[in-house]
Amino acid sequence: MEKYAQNSYLTEIETTITERGKDEIGNFVCLKETVVYPGGGGQPADCAWIAGNPILKIQKTADSVFYYLDIDVETLPEKVLVKINWEQRFDFMQQHTGQHILARVCEDLFQARITKEQMTLKDSFFEIDVKLDKTQLQTALKRSNEIIRAQKQVSILFPTEEELAKETLFTAPPKYFKDLRLIKIADFDIIGCGGTHVKNTAEVQAIALTQVKEHKKTTTLHFACGNRLLQQFETNQKQLTALTLQANVPVDGLALAFQEQQQTIKFYQGQVALYQVNELVANAKELTPHFIYSEITDTEAKELQTAAKKIAEIYPDKLICTATSDEDSLRYHLYLKTADPKRPIGQVIRTANQKFAGRGGGSPTKGDGTIPYLQKDALLRFLQQ
Ligand SMILES: [Zn+2]
Repeated sequence: MEKYAQNSYLTEIETTITERGKDEIGNFVCLKETVVYPGGGGQPADCAWIAGNPILKIQKTADSVFYYLDIDVETLPEKVLVKINWEQRFDFMQQHTGQHILARVCEDLFQARITKEQMTLKDSFFEIDVKLDKTQLQTALKRSNEIIRAQKQVSILFPTEEELAKETLFTAPPKYFKDLRLIKIADFDIIGCGGTHVKNTAEVQAIALTQVKEHKKTTTLHFACGNRLLQQFETNQKQLTALTLQANVPVDGLALAFQEQQQTIKFYQGQVALYQVNELVANAKELTPHFIYSEITDTEAKELQTAAKKIAEIYPDKLICTATSDEDSLRYHLYLKTADPKRPIGQVIRTANQKFAGRGGGSPTKGDGTIPYLQKDALLRFLQQ
């Protein structure tokens, strides 16, 4: 008997083990009664314990529910206490009931239908088959929070066919009634659902959107309700306070301050790049009459390329190699102002790849490669040939 289906507020139950054994998944027990939600409809399974042992996995079949435990189940007594993590369950009840409310509001206001739904410990979302603009979303949230504040009773119904026929709140009446479980929010909504819910909308406390993702034809609404919403607010507030203190601006000035900082960083990155190019040009050494080499640490491929071109203006018709190193590799750029049909650069790099366990390639006049730093001297000898 699934007690959570009639009363989502039961946190524990003393019940009898009806079956115990081992299968390909592990050691399991089956219970006469349960308060543990096994998962489904986008709501995760409860975190729960049987006689103090955490349930590792729950497997539902047509006529049984298997609870897997990491113990020798033969040692368990016949009667056991089954207990759920109530804090986590109530959080899911708040999110899930909030979802019923927001989804129905979207349906009423914008004829939206849910196409996907999912809840995790950190995030809740559902996808609807319409696109909503900012004003529409605000309207939907305002209406949803009105419903929450209106303290509407949330009831669980197991209707007969006649009772079902009398219900008029459906947007999509169910096509069957056997074993049908309905969740009715007073005069606002009724829908078939197997999940767990709070008993009054006031317990949802509030609903807010945490993220809205627009797709081609659909919208995903990420939301938070109840305690989770308060906790997220607190966390975000702490982050904002830290940021405003650091940036020395009020919250509504953060975006602009950040943008200005990005521009400053970009400017100095440009200055550093320029400096690095100049360093590479200044460091250029004629290792042989036909080969010029220059190396600095921590620069980018673009700077290697720019510097090589500048060096080629000083040493035309020579093979130019600019390089940069990090801990264990050497990245290099080869440049030749005029292609040498006997030694196309791309081919030189491919040969170097084979010889020195490197990678890269290029055209007849230029290319980029990377080799292990230990092979640097061997590469230079090879390039000087
Ligand atoms: Zn539900």
